[in-house]
Amino acid sequence: MIFGADHVRSDRVLEADLCVVGSGAGGAPVAAEAVAAGKSVVVLEAGRFWRPKDFTQLEHEMFPRLFHEKGGRATRDKAVKVHQGKGVGGSTLHNINLCKPLPMAILRHWKAEHGLEALDEATATALFDEVETRLGVTTLTDNDLNHNNRVLKEGAEALGYPGGFLRHNRTGCMGSGFCELGCPFDAKNNALKVFIADAVAGGATVLADTWAVRVTLDGRRATGVEAVVRHPDTGATLHRVTVKAKAVCVSASATATPSLLRRSGVDDPGALIGSRLHLHPGTAVAAVFDRDLDSWQGIPQSWECTELLDLEDESKDLRCWLIAAFAHPAGVGSILAGFGADHARWMKDFKRIAAISPMVHDHTVGRVDPRGDFGVSIDYWPDEADRAQLRRGLVEGARILLAAGAARVVVPLSTPVEVTSADEVDRLIGSIPIERHDIDITAVHPMSSVWMGDDPATSCCDSRGRYHHADNLFVADTSLYPTSIGIPPQITTYAMGLHVGRAIVATL
Ligand SMILES: Cc1cc2nc3c(=O)[nH]c(=O)nc-3n(C[C@H](O)[C@H](O)[C@H](O)COP(=O)(O)OP(=O)(O)OC[C@H]3O[C@@H](n4cnc5c(N)ncnc54)[C@H](O)[C@@H]3O)c2cc1C
Ligand code: SF4
Repeated sequence: MIFGADHVRSDRVLEADLCVVGSGAGGAPVAAEAVAAGKSVVVLEAGRFWRPKDFTQLEHEMFPRLFHEKGGRATRDKAVKVHQGKGVGGSTLHNINLCKPLPMAILRHWKAEHGLEALDEATATALFDEVETRLGVTTLTDNDLNHNNRVLKEGAEALGYPGGFLRHNRTGCMGSGFCELGCPFDAKNNALKVFIADAVAGGATVLADTWAVRVTLDGRRATGVEAVVRHPDTGATLHRVTVKAKAVCVSASATATPSLLRRSGVDDPGALIGSRLHLHPGTAVAAVFDRDLDSWQGIPQSWECTELLDLEDESKDLRCWLIAAFAHPAGVGSILAGFGADHARWMKDFKRIAAISPMVHDHTVGRVDPRGDFGVSIDYWPDEADRAQLRRGLVEGARILLAAGAARVVVPLSTPVEVTSADEVDRLIGSIPIERHDIDITAVHPMSSVWMGDDPATSCCDSRGRYHHADNLFVADTSLYPTSIGIPPQITTYAMGLHVGRAIVATL
């Protein structure tokens, strides 16, 4: 059953074989695996239990409901926005459904650096196949391209740049384009609909509106989790929940997992937890066309351009992925260039705008620390090499938009840089400084803050997700990656959830 603040009317003590904190791409498959093996499971989820009818397609209603800090989460200096979801299903409620498994080159790199004895290529590939089957992943086709993605495809092809259709986990999609606000048509095969549904059908208890405050420990053993039920609107603490469990799995995301572990005072001799955050940061370049594109309609990200991305050959230093990007008016307004009349001029062209986002497989190392009882504090600014990748991405994005017929292109700096012809694009290289607070940098893929490795001196968890310095404490979410993975992480995260879930079952 799934319970929320409306149902929990007093303090509670629960017992289970396994307590999972977080119900997103990492936590949901862990819960499903444990239940399938006959184990009793309690899942604690800070966000609400939303149904399709709750997804109103209105930005001002859905951002506060579906995103931590109402969608306003950012680094401490506010220079990088960090969007992370909340709700039963985690960030998979509002994500774009794009499915790419971990590139094998990245796994090989991890194995060379960190061993990862329980995760070889064959095991990983089998996990990705299993996840894709369970999520009903299919390859999109030309019929699925909206105008924004068609612009990317046509521009890239005109320049001879490589790319291709993406794979997505959607069934019965109406192409409404509201994915990032939650799907009112229940077309997403996400963590809630697939893995949480399986876990609940098998007897798992899911407590929504329930924030884990600390993992309780007795020496090297985790004994459970202390949590509070909070009012979903005011955040007021309503009741205390104590879960006593034989094992604990923290799957609260790459920012909240390290914060919870630190708050719990787990042994961390090398002070590693949270010290190695990657964000896969992105920005956007926009263009106005002489025809209506209505870029917010249709499937949001159906085609990718890989001109600047080669994760196989590191010597090429091509680490920038180019993807169509768009949103609804508030989202676009927050990214578009300039202020006042300048900004209004761009917004008046909303129907005729297309945009491309470069996202960087970042080498920059940031950090995340706990803030108060529930919050996170993020320090991160892309280093010069990563900013150079973003700059190249903006330049090639501009070139693609012009090749697709854009009338004018804007790089959304606080003083916007506009170009109207391909000849002008090259000079952009020298005129995009990428300075803090001068350009919108947004991250939707935080990762690698509690990373795996065989050596407890240089990593936090083993390659089955077990925390090195405790016997029965596990991590299963994007925190586990030793580096950025350079692509969207949901398939890798679901797969790690299955992998860690099986490892936990073997210990119970
Ligand atoms: C706008 C957007 C679009 C995206 N699009 C894609 C895409 O198309 N393809 C893709 O592969 N990836 C996409 N992603 C990323 C992907 O959804 C995430 O990487 C993935 O869901 C991360 O899984 P996770 O388990 O680490 O965290 P999450 O899925 O975020 O789940 C963590 C859960 O833990 C809960 N939690 C946090 N703290 C606590 C606490 N103290 N107590 C209890 N619960 C807690 C959170 O509320 C949340 O529900 C997107 C992300 C965003 C923000
Ligand atoms: S585009 Fe498809 S998956 Fe996205 S909200 Fe609309 S119907 Fe749902």
